[in-house]
Amino acid sequence: MRTVDVVIVGASLSAAAAAKRLVDAGLETIVLERKELPRHKICSGILSPRGHRFLLENFGPLPREALHEPTSCHGVTFHFPSMVSLSMDFFGGTTPHLHRKYSDYWAIKQSGAEVHDQTSFAGLEDLGDHVLVHARKNGEPVEYRARQVIGADGPSSLVIRSIYPDYTKQIPWFFVGQKFHDIIECPLSPDYFHFWFHPGLGHYTWSHARDGRQIVGVGFKRGDNFAQKHENVVNYLADKHGVRLKPYTEDEGCGENFGPSLINRYVFGKGNVLITGQAAGFLNMIGEGMSCALHSGAISGEAVVEARLRNRPVQEMYRRMIASEVRRCSDQWNPLKIAFDRPHEADFPAALMALGWRDRAKVLRDMWRFILLYKEFKWGRQIARAALQRPLIGGYSMQRWL
Ligand SMILES: Cc1cc2nc3c(=O)[nH]c(=O)nc-3n(C[C@H](O)[C@H](O)[C@H](O)COP(=O)(O)OP(=O)(O)OC[C@H]3O[C@@H](n4cnc5c(N)ncnc54)[C@H](O)[C@@H]3O)c2cc1C
Repeated sequence: MRTVDVVIVGASLSAAAAAKRLVDAGLETIVLERKELPRHKICSGILSPRGHRFLLENFGPLPREALHEPTSCHGVTFHFPSMVSLSMDFFGGTTPHLHRKYSDYWAIKQSGAEVHDQTSFAGLEDLGDHVLVHARKNGEPVEYRARQVIGADGPSSLVIRSIYPDYTKQIPWFFVGQKFHDIIECPLSPDYFHFWFHPGLGHYTWSHARDGRQIVGVGFKRGDNFAQKHENVVNYLADKHGVRLKPYTEDEGCGENFGPSLINRYVFGKGNVLITGQAAGFLNMIGEGMSCALHSGAISGEAVVEARLRNRPVQEMYRRMIASEVRRCSDQWNPLKIAFDRPHEADFPAALMALGWRDRAKVLRDMWRFILLYKEFKWGRQIARAALQRPLIGGYSMQRWL
C-alpha cells in the first residue's frame, strides 16, 4: 500500500489546481483518474477570462494542441424568441477555446503531481488520523493511505456518495446532450458561443462551431427525450436563423448536477475528505464551470496546506477559505448583480442598454418567460426561492453546506 500526503480523485481542472498548490508546498500527492489519459471530456471548452488568467498564472501559456478550431472565443450571444439577439464580448479580449482532452492533460502534468490513470476510486474509510482509499486498476484492487483526500471527480462524484450516500437524491439533476453536424450553411458567428433563452426549446439550448462542424446542444430535466428535443432545436435554427446542417455524425450526453449553485447548496465534505470543483456544486450561469473548478480546486489544496501549517482541522480551514468562491458563484445567479454589477465578465447591462427600448422590453419579457419554465421542474420552488432571496440577502444565509 502506498502512503502519501494527499490523494486527489479525478484528473481534471479542479484536480490540477489542487495538485499544483499541494506539490508547490512540498506535499506528496497522487492523482487517481479512472480513464486512460489523455481522456475525452464532454465540454464546449469556452473559457471565461478568469479561467484563462488562472491557467496562465499557474501553468503558463497553453500549447496549440490544447485548442479547438476556432482557437478563440469573443464572447456569448444570447438569442430570444422575439428574435432579438445580444452579443457580449468578454472583458479583456478573446479567450482560448479549450480542447479538454489535451488542456486537462497538460494542466495535470504541469501541476507536478504523480498521476495514476486507469485507476478508479471505489471507496474510502476515514480513520481520523488518515484515510484508506480503495481503488481498482485494470480490475485489480489497489489501496492508498493518505492524510487527506480531495474529491475532484465531477458531477456524479463517487467520493461524495461514499461519505453522503443519499446526496444525489437531495439535488436537482439535468441531462445535457450535444450532436455534431457537418455544415451546409451557418449564419451564426463562429466567434461566439450561442445560447437561447427560449422556453419552447428547453432549459439549456446552445450551439457553436468546433473543428469545422456545428454543435447543437440541449439540456432538460432527466427523463425527457434527447432525440426529440434536439430535432426541435435543429428545425428552429433552420426556420429562424437560416442554419442548414447535415444529419448529425456523432452525439454524446451526460447527467449534470446543475442544481447546487441554483439552490445555493454546496457540499464540501467531512473529516479528512474535501470535495471540490463541480462535484462540490460549482457551476456558473449558462454552464460555465471551468473557472470555478480551477479556483475552488486551488482553494481545497491551499486549505490542506494551511490546516497543516496552523494545526487546525482541514474542514474548518476549507469552509472559511471557500466562502469567497461560493459568493462569486452565487452572484452569477443574482438578478440584482446581473442588472447592476458585472458578475459574468461580459457586459450584459451595456449590451441591453445598447438596444432600443422596445427590444429591451422584449428581452426582459422573454427572460422572465424563460425563468418561468423552471416552474414545471420538481425543484422549481427552491430555485425560485433562492433566486428571490439572493438580491435581498445575497442568498448566503439560506445556504446549506454539507
Ligand atoms: C456539454 C457540456 C458543455 C460544457 N461547456 C462548458 C464551457 O463551455 N465552459 C465551461 O467553463 N464549462 C463548461 N462545462 C462545464 C465544465 O465542463 C465542468 O464544470 C468542469 O469540467 C468541472 O471540472 P471538475 O474538475 O470539477 O470535474 P470534471 O471535469 O467533471 O472531471 C472529473 C474527473 O474525475 C474523473 N473521475 C470521475 N469518477 C472517478 C472515479 N471514480 N475514479 C477516478 N476518477 C474519476 C473523470 O473521469 C474526470 O476526469 C460544460 C459541461 C458540459 C456537460
